[in-house]
Amino acid sequence: MKDHFENYKTITEYEFDEQLSIVKEWAISSLQDTGKPPTYFVRTFGCQQNDHDSELAAGILEEMGFRLAASPEVADVVLFNTCSVRANADNRFYGHLGSLKPIRRGGRPIIGVFGCMMEQELHVETVKRTFPYVDFIFGAGDVRVLPHALSDVLSAGTGKRKTVDLTHCSGLGDDTSLPVRRGDPHRALVTIMSGCNNFCSYCIVPYTRGRERSRSYEKILEEAERAVKLGAKEIMLLGQNVNSYGNDLRKTGIADAPTFAKLLQEIAHIDGLWAVRYMTSHPKDLSDELIEVIGREPRVESHIHLPLQSGSDKILRKMNRRYDSARYLELVRKLRSARENISISTDLIVGFPGETEEDFEATLRVMEEVRFDAAFTFLYSPRVGTPAADWFDESQQDIVRERFMRLVEYQNECSLASNRALEDKVLDVLVDGRSRRDDTVLSGRTHDDRLVNFTGVLRENTSCLCNSFADVCRGDIVRVAIERANVNSLDGRLVKDD
Ligand code: SF4
Repeated sequence: MKDHFENYKTITEYEFDEQLSIVKEWAISSLQDTGKPPTYFVRTFGCQQNDHDSELAAGILEEMGFRLAASPEVADVVLFNTCSVRANADNRFYGHLGSLKPIRRGGRPIIGVFGCMMEQELHVETVKRTFPYVDFIFGAGDVRVLPHALSDVLSAGTGKRKTVDLTHCSGLGDDTSLPVRRGDPHRALVTIMSGCNNFCSYCIVPYTRGRERSRSYEKILEEAERAVKLGAKEIMLLGQNVNSYGNDLRKTGIADAPTFAKLLQEIAHIDGLWAVRYMTSHPKDLSDELIEVIGREPRVESHIHLPLQSGSDKILRKMNRRYDSARYLELVRKLRSARENISISTDLIVGFPGETEEDFEATLRVMEEVRFDAAFTFLYSPRVGTPAADWFDESQQDIVRERFMRLVEYQNECSLASNRALEDKVLDVLVDGRSRRDDTVLSGRTHDDRLVNFTGVLRENTSCLCNSFADVCRGDIVRVAIERANVNSLDGRLVKDD
């Protein structure tokens, strides 16, 4: 529910079904007229939560009779799922949106924009003013609004029409009942909560996604179990801060609402599952109970993504992170003693406003102590509407870029050393398919979330009978002998089991 809107409109289950039927009828008549089903294309920016919202949007469109198009140029409906976490994603979105203008003829394709940027007045106004050919917009995390948006556009006809603005709309119900078209059936993304209460001073998410709302424990388990029955080997539990799962339920009187640790443990017990992953953990909420589950349950991935952001206590306070470097290091020690060889990745921001050389060196010191297996490194990027944006000092950017290079260089050393320790070992790998960079090799991920490239032949049909040792299908778990370590990946060869 959009607690950040005063006058939101709720789409009920009944309205959702009614509008879905209207669009479905239109799709059937379109099929009768043209002999082809109408098509759609969804472009997604940002995090895995957005990826999952796009999977739901695709599932709803397919339920209404649409089929996936190869590109936006040939689609009847084009959707953009936007992200406002970094300026880079904003700019790429506007670039892609602008590129649709030359192909838009007679009101086709129908263009819709949703996601985090559509929760910000500034972007809503920019889209309406600068891109009047956008047919509809709605906000983040509520794809139940999609049939309503499409039926409004279809009933308005193909003449000149205003953008249908449904940013004040929200949907009732739990997403378990929504159709979903999973991008990778062997990896199921399952949202366990949305929103965030933390208000880190650089982050726009609490303003775009609203306060924390946990999904029902039973519905999450039901969705995860169904996904595994349909072939998922891996479940990824998603939330801005998964460690605080259930806090909102307990505050509203459900005193025995399970914790994230309990949820993780239950999911790890689903038969047929290879790994359960979770993203993102906030260090301030990483409990001993959770560390125990991570240590005890073999199906819980042997990896954790634990954003540090900065190693300077002064900067952590300015960021409103509510832990200090000593607490972070204590968590790392506990994790490593609970689970041998757990890989630890992190997020680091360089150049947060007010960062001095001393603060930066404090970050390097924590990095030296932890030796992260991987890190996502970012130059601080001001986000309008957040407190830290007012503290940004452009004049410091040359110094900040030089620090960033030093930090990346050090992290690359650590990542490479961590990967080198796996050379000559044989690892289990969940196959994703052809490598994105080189389609002559296959790729997949280890239990501790490392990318592995290896030679082999991909059989596209998952019901095929693989007839050679080198044949693999997406979703297979194979044994790979690691021959070479790189900074961000491992190279290897398939190993035959005796
Ligand atoms: S925990 Fe902080 S960084 Fe993460 S989503 Fe919430 S406010 Fe943003």
